[in-house]
Amino acid sequence: MAANPMNQLSYGLFVLTANADGKDNGCIINTVGQVTATPNRITIAVNKSNHTHDMLMKNNRFTVSVISQRADFSLFKRFGFATGRDTDKFAGYSAVKRTENGTLAVLEGTNAYITGRIFHSIDLGTHTLFIAEVEEAVSLSDAPSATYAYYHKSIKPQPEKVGETPAGQTIWRCTICGYEYVGDELPEDFICPLCKHPASDFEKVT
Ligand code: FE
Repeated sequence: MAANPMNQLSYGLFVLTANADGKDNGCIINTVGQVTATPNRITIAVNKSNHTHDMLMKNNRFTVSVISQRADFSLFKRFGFATGRDTDKFAGYSAVKRTENGTLAVLEGTNAYITGRIFHSIDLGTHTLFIAEVEEAVSLSDAPSATYAYYHKSIKPQPEKVGETPAGQTIWRCTICGYEYVGDELPEDFICPLCKHPASDFEKVT
C-alpha cells in the first residue's frame, strides 16, 4: 500500500507547558522547530482546542521539554490524552522543575528543555503558529529524542489480539493511542474518547 507522503515527514515529540492565572498546564505537540540560530528562534504550532493554547495567548512564556526514547506511555497519557480545562495534569507529579521564565520543565522521559518568549503569532485557523525567542536551553540526558514514528512503533502499547470480536464485528483502532471501537461503520464525526483524535486517525482491523 502506498504511504501517505505527509506521514513520511519526521517529527519530534515535546511536552509544551505554560502558566497563566497561577496555574500550570501542559500538552504534547510535535511541532517545535528551530528556524534561526542567531538570534536563536523557534516556532511552535498549537491547536486552539488545547487549554495550553489559551494560556499562551495570556502569558507569552513557555517551556518545551524534548521527549526521549526512554519516555513511558504514561507520559503521553498524562499530557496528551486529557484536557487541562478540568484536570490538573501536574497533580501528584514531581518530575518537574520551575524554569527561569516561570513555566515547568518535565524532567522524566525527556532529554532537554527549552524555554521561550513568544513575540509573534500567526492565526492559522485550527492552530496558532507562535514564533519565540529561546531564553534558556538545557540538556538533561544523552538518550535519543523520540520521533513521532518511534512513538507509534515502540512506546504506544501494541494490542495483543487484533481482528474479530467473538460476534464477528469489525474493530476500528485509534492509530494514536490504540483505543478500539467495535462496529461495522465508524461514524464520520467520531472522536477518540481517550486521545480526542478524529475518525480519520482510526484504522480498520479485520
Ligand atoms: Fe485515541
